[in-house]
Amino acid sequence: MAAPSKKQIVVLGAGVVGLTTALKIQEQGGYQVIIIADILPSDPKSIRYCSHWAGAIIRPEGEVDKETFKVMWEMSAPEGGAEGCFLRERQTEYYCDKQDEPHPLAHMPDFRYLNDDELILGTAAGVEYTTVTIDIPIYLNYLLSRFLAQGGSIVRGSVQHISQVTEGGAYVFAGVKSGGATVDAIIVCVGIGARFLGGVEDKDIYPVRGQSVLLRAPWIRSGRVLLGKDGTLTYVIPRRSGTVIIGGTKDVDDWYPAPRPETAHDILSRSLAMCPELVPQSIRDQRAPTVEDLVPLVIEEGCGLRPARKGGFRLEVEWYPSEHGQARKVPVVHNYGHGGGGFEGSWGSASVALQLLEKALAQT
Ligand SMILES: Cc1cc2nc3c(=O)[nH]c(=O)nc-3n(C[C@H](O)[C@H](O)[C@H](O)COP(=O)(O)OP(=O)(O)OC[C@H]3O[C@@H](n4cnc5c(N)ncnc54)[C@H](O)[C@@H]3O)c2cc1C
Repeated sequence: MAAPSKKQIVVLGAGVVGLTTALKIQEQGGYQVIIIADILPSDPKSIRYCSHWAGAIIRPEGEVDKETFKVMWEMSAPEGGAEGCFLRERQTEYYCDKQDEPHPLAHMPDFRYLNDDELILGTAAGVEYTTVTIDIPIYLNYLLSRFLAQGGSIVRGSVQHISQVTEGGAYVFAGVKSGGATVDAIIVCVGIGARFLGGVEDKDIYPVRGQSVLLRAPWIRSGRVLLGKDGTLTYVIPRRSGTVIIGGTKDVDDWYPAPRPETAHDILSRSLAMCPELVPQSIRDQRAPTVEDLVPLVIEEGCGLRPARKGGFRLEVEWYPSEHGQARKVPVVHNYGHGGGGFEGSWGSASVALQLLEKALAQT
């Protein structure tokens, strides 16, 4: 007897959300998953691919994020399978205002409130906990290679309208004239691209631009965040491979695609004030550190557009016609609009997307 054929699922987007969702569905079994994306993790960094620019740290407050933390905590364990993508680290957060208790991160390992004498720069409260940071380029390529090893496929393409995929399948973007196998479902993980993708054109999507500086400072092994009174966000996020991301900014509706020099200087000076240890000990032994001492450590300046969405991220199913004039409908699962939390939402939202997919396919 012939084996039942696998359902063909097309995932649009190869950022952290698309890769994780595609992997989750492929590993479930019974599906042939094909990703279509115009930018892949191994490409040069681009303003149209936010995942390249993330810190990234996991600060799980909601249920979706807590599921991600559980997965990443296991992956980051010694012999956890992906230990080399993560750094387990102590994270300290400082706030200019007193915080409500219990703190939303009170469930994190080794959580504690800071004593007054541990506060810095006139802050009013602080906490400390253990979490993971992600080595972004390494982790994205890990996801991609695990997806391919599980039998998933990738097609490079820039989709103008959902109907191109419902009718032509994924391989029409690889030059195959008749699309081949029927597409059973589509998962939309295009981040900020959801604002422009025909058939979706979600005007609730908007950018929150984040600028950062990447340093080489392997002596930094714990992270810090300071939430300023004026809404400024200063962070130092060490990665396992010895680089450190410092930032940042949260510029709503700012589409500017290149780092601004004056902002980079401001980031260096705020980060130094919060974490003088960024400057090598040998210099600090002789004199007070300055911003100029950080300049030789700079690898690159960058910025990304966080795909924010009014009302929060979108996780739901819509039904689209399969072809012009045909009655058959194809379920389209939306998983986009994760703003500043696409990494921490990745595994939890992939689980929900898989559940939505299976429920929708059961109705076809
Ligand atoms: C400075 C900064 C720091 C951050 N720090 C953190 C952090 O510490 N923790 C955290 O969780 N998050 C962080 N984020 C947020 C995180 O980076 C984003 O939430 C996440 O990258 C969004 O991923 P995504 O897969 O939805 O979108 P993207 O990474 O933008 O991927 C979108 C994909 O869709 C493809 N695409 C789009 N349109 C089309 C189309 N029409 N046809 C074909 N392909 C298309 C693109 O090519 C790409 O492959 C940070 C972001 C910034 C900028």
